[in-house]
Amino acid sequence: MTARPMPRRRRPSGTALLAVLLLLAACGIVPPTSSPNASAHASPGASGVAATPFPLPSLDLGGEVSVGAISRHLEALDAIARQHGGIRAVGTPGYDASVEYVAAELEAMGYTVSTPQFSVHTFAEEPGGTLTVMDGGPTFEAGDDMHAMIYSADGEVTARVATVGFPGSDGGEGNRGCSEGDWEEFPAGRIALTPPGPCLRRDTVEHAQDAGAVGLVVANDQWEPGEARRPTLLSPDGIDIPVISAVGEVGEALDDAAEAGTEVGIRVDTRTGDAGVRNVVAQHGSAGPVVMLGAHLDSVMDGPGINDNASGAAAALEIAHLLADAGHSGTVRVGFWAAEEFGLHGSRDYVTSLSSAEIDAIAAYLNLDMLGSVNAVPMVYANFGGPDGSSTITDFLVAWLQADGVAAEREDLGNGSDHFFFAQADIPIGGIFSGASEEKSEDQAAANGGQAGEPMDPCYHLVCDTIDNVDAEQVATYAQAAAAAMLALLEGQLTTGQ
Ligand SMILES: [Zn+2]
Repeated sequence: MTARPMPRRRRPSGTALLAVLLLLAACGIVPPTSSPNASAHASPGASGVAATPFPLPSLDLGGEVSVGAISRHLEALDAIARQHGGIRAVGTPGYDASVEYVAAELEAMGYTVSTPQFSVHTFAEEPGGTLTVMDGGPTFEAGDDMHAMIYSADGEVTARVATVGFPGSDGGEGNRGCSEGDWEEFPAGRIALTPPGPCLRRDTVEHAQDAGAVGLVVANDQWEPGEARRPTLLSPDGIDIPVISAVGEVGEALDDAAEAGTEVGIRVDTRTGDAGVRNVVAQHGSAGPVVMLGAHLDSVMDGPGINDNASGAAAALEIAHLLADAGHSGTVRVGFWAAEEFGLHGSRDYVTSLSSAEIDAIAAYLNLDMLGSVNAVPMVYANFGGPDGSSTITDFLVAWLQADGVAAEREDLGNGSDHFFFAQADIPIGGIFSGASEEKSEDQAAANGGQAGEPMDPCYHLVCDTIDNVDAEQVATYAQAAAAAMLALLEGQLTTGQ
């Protein structure tokens, strides 16, 4: 998951469901005009302006998502990571054990379970990578302060450095390496240094290669020593140079080297290959509209991924459980996706495997990725311009959470998680998210508590994303909202027009 939440307007919270709904009528929510169970839109593009209440249907979920059950799944997936080298990344035994775990849980609930296999590009970085500033400068070792990005080419290069895309640097547009214009003045044969930009890392690499760079370092000055993350380049195809993701300190050393004209040596040893990996797809019921829920099951390569995303997987398991026990019309289908951290490969493989009739049969897809952030900002997916019907799900989730005393923001997550390919297939989407490495604002802290100026998830994509990095109670609260939306969609009390 990567998403950068923009600050949004706040809302008052509420009490017991129905009473609060009427209360909300006075407080106000912004539902779309399109669907019959929504009310007038306040004003286009604005979120948070109270208009008319979203009429939440009365639903009998037959129970609550239990915090104990959520914790059991989190502990099981945390233990799986500890038993498999601290990670559950795709292509590793930790991921396979995670697949076995959720498949067994779903079978025990009475779901029909399949584990469709597909081929994915695997990636590994061998120990021993270094970045050295010559003439007695510092040496950084791959591990905490820098990583080869997923699908980086391996190799050894030594060259001078040129900075690109920093505001005012080297005559470029200052668009952080994301525009061709940033690279017009780039001296071929150098190692490029850029800040992280508002585009896919792969785009920056392609610009760098076209400009003749022999290596690329993307240094993030928000990352403290020991906090390097490892973005993905989506595929090894077309990546010909070593590509490094580094903390601010490395960026400063390279900036000095660029200034001084000092050479820098980069050495990385990476392996790419292909492997068959499995999604888990489970179904309950076989008639009527299919309503889908999904969560990625893989972790990053550098940590156990318990908030990202054992929290979503645990929530999906307990929602599946609740719906199976509650009884429902329609068909519940739950997907646990592989290789999200490598580039949404599992959900893409699933969606592209569907016929158009199968796509048409899916009334909605809800995505759950990172529900347990310890300094959370509750966010509901609101893909402006997304498939018709999505905003109905958005408004339902906002209203339901509001009734539960949670003032959720509406957030456009773009291509930040597994909902993306469902939206691309024009399937109405929704979802819940609680924040990644972005800092919480004063306003957000005022509305939801927690620490302003601190990351929403301080262990995002790091080795410390363990069981201690998840708020299980919050996961249960968000899961209850998603379960309610699923049941309302299954019962036809919430319609997406699909
Ligand atoms: Zn994630």
